[in-house]
Amino acid sequence: MCGIVGYTGPRQAYPIVLKGLKRLEYRGYDSSGVALLHNGKLNVYKKKGKVAELEEYVIGKDLDSGIGIGHTRWATHGEPSDRNAHPHTSSNGRFAMIHNGIIENYAQLKTELQKKGYQFTSDTDTEVLLNFVEDIQNNNNCTLEEALRIALKRVSGAYCILIIDSNDPETIIAARKGSPLVIGIGKGEHFLASDASPIIEYTKEVVYVNDYELAIVKPDELILKNLGNEKVTPYITKLDMELAAIEKGGYDHFMLKEIFEQPSTIYDCLRGRLDADAGTITMGGIDQHISQLINANRIMIIACGTSWHAGLVAEYIIEELCRIPVEVEYASEFRYRNPIVNKGDVIIAISQSGETADTLVALEKAKENGAFIFGVVNAVGSSISRISHAGAYTHAGPEIGVASTKAFTGQLAVLMLMALKMAFVKETISKERYKQLLIELQDVPEKVDAILKNSESIKTIAEAYKNATDFLFLGRGYNFPIALEGALKLKEISYIHAEGYPAAEMKHGPIALVDEKLPVVFIATKDSYHEKIVSNMQEIKARKGKIISIITEGDVISPTLSNHVFSIPPADEVIAPILSVVPLQLLSYYVGVSKGIDVDKPRNLAKSVTVE
Ligand code: GLU
Repeated sequence: MCGIVGYTGPRQAYPIVLKGLKRLEYRGYDSSGVALLHNGKLNVYKKKGKVAELEEYVIGKDLDSGIGIGHTRWATHGEPSDRNAHPHTSSNGRFAMIHNGIIENYAQLKTELQKKGYQFTSDTDTEVLLNFVEDIQNNNNCTLEEALRIALKRVSGAYCILIIDSNDPETIIAARKGSPLVIGIGKGEHFLASDASPIIEYTKEVVYVNDYELAIVKPDELILKNLGNEKVTPYITKLDMELAAIEKGGYDHFMLKEIFEQPSTIYDCLRGRLDADAGTITMGGIDQHISQLINANRIMIIACGTSWHAGLVAEYIIEELCRIPVEVEYASEFRYRNPIVNKGDVIIAISQSGETADTLVALEKAKENGAFIFGVVNAVGSSISRISHAGAYTHAGPEIGVASTKAFTGQLAVLMLMALKMAFVKETISKERYKQLLIELQDVPEKVDAILKNSESIKTIAEAYKNATDFLFLGRGYNFPIALEGALKLKEISYIHAEGYPAAEMKHGPIALVDEKLPVVFIATKDSYHEKIVSNMQEIKARKGKIISIITEGDVISPTLSNHVFSIPPADEVIAPILSVVPLQLLSYYVGVSKGIDVDKPRNLAKSVTVE
């Protein structure tokens, strides 16, 4: 998600910045741009699309500069377009800024600036921040550094920003909170970037800038300060990695990277929305339409693939907490089967890409019948987000691996927030349980992190079963959709036939498959169904199936019935699915890799299914 590069020194900045942007392409983005400074004139070039398009666009333009900043944007505020691409230039043309993150109170700042006569040329939160800095600088007749410090004290949200000033051909001012920034120290030159990949070929000496720090970067000087204007000693670290290792942010595959990003993507999804201490959930798309949502005659969830599994989890949660009837439909079935949709129905559409063709058509049909459409989408500005009446983004960042992982947990996080908010307003949940679930949800990133720290033990299980021809995944209640998701993931990434079933339903057919060769994965975390699923384990054990159990830490019974166990931290049963899916993602990944499959691009599959 978004990349930032900067250079100041004796060399030409453009080639260094451009190469850096290419190195950051793996993060995913929708547009790119650079700002250079020649004889006091800011030259800003930006283009929607790939960095290669920017490269072509600048041919013949003035690229002469010893200072430069460059950006790959992953749109949050405003569609991907040339004009929303970064860098942005301040109103008076003096400053250029790039930004990674979200300025949450941008709307309020924008209104204040508009009252003062400011006009905006983009839809971004970034341009608001830049003009806010310009306004402070004008009013106080202070330095850019001072103006930025004052501005940042009023800003809420996350940012890594770089600014250059047309009156200062040597200095890049940078600041970070929540979004990464690394500064490479060269000989009489400095390099700035979102991660070390653009820097490593020039120097291995780097400084990782911390939250709430400001960096004043000149060719032969690096000053770090906190927001109180006190100097901070830069802590120089030596990069212990080679260029080749960082192509995918250091991971062998995008899928693994995306699995491991989940603590931060779930955190990003909850950030600014969930405040467990205050007991509040703030989500624009829900808050503005809350009466429509809680008074729905019924909710229909429309999705495909992994998103459909997220919908099934949501069905259980919304019915339990909000007492509203929910149906979950495959978009491809819904669109062709003449469904009954009436005014007063709410449709929740779930899609990673926001471009899933079947879901799009299904929504158009439901919209014509008067339903209210709520989109749960990852890709900002996508078609589904545009045709929805309201929605909530999952904020998981671009997902490149074909098998969805972080987008799924992002969907679960959004749907959990949504159910909790609705239940609270509808008063179908007690205040105590509401509060407890908010705290549990807030703890999810940390718990996912703990699960990932244990990934080696899943690797061992994967090795043991990589030659299996079939797998069965069983779960009950909130974990039943996770059994489906575990089976789907394994099929996608390892080409092993797998079926997901409700654990009790297995007696009505799949039990015939069980023999001493069949691995059966139980998602058996501690919940109100636990005793029942333990009985199902007994039934498989009696038939000599190989049992792999995902259990809650401290469970002493399941290990006695299982050939392998993987423990996850305790969680309320409503929250458990967002945790229990993570070991299953790892299992499919490691089985796929051990079979030599290209897990990022498994055969026949596409990332965004834009045909029906
Ligand atoms: N919020 C900014 C925008 O929408 C920055 C997004 C990013 O991190 O790329 O332009």
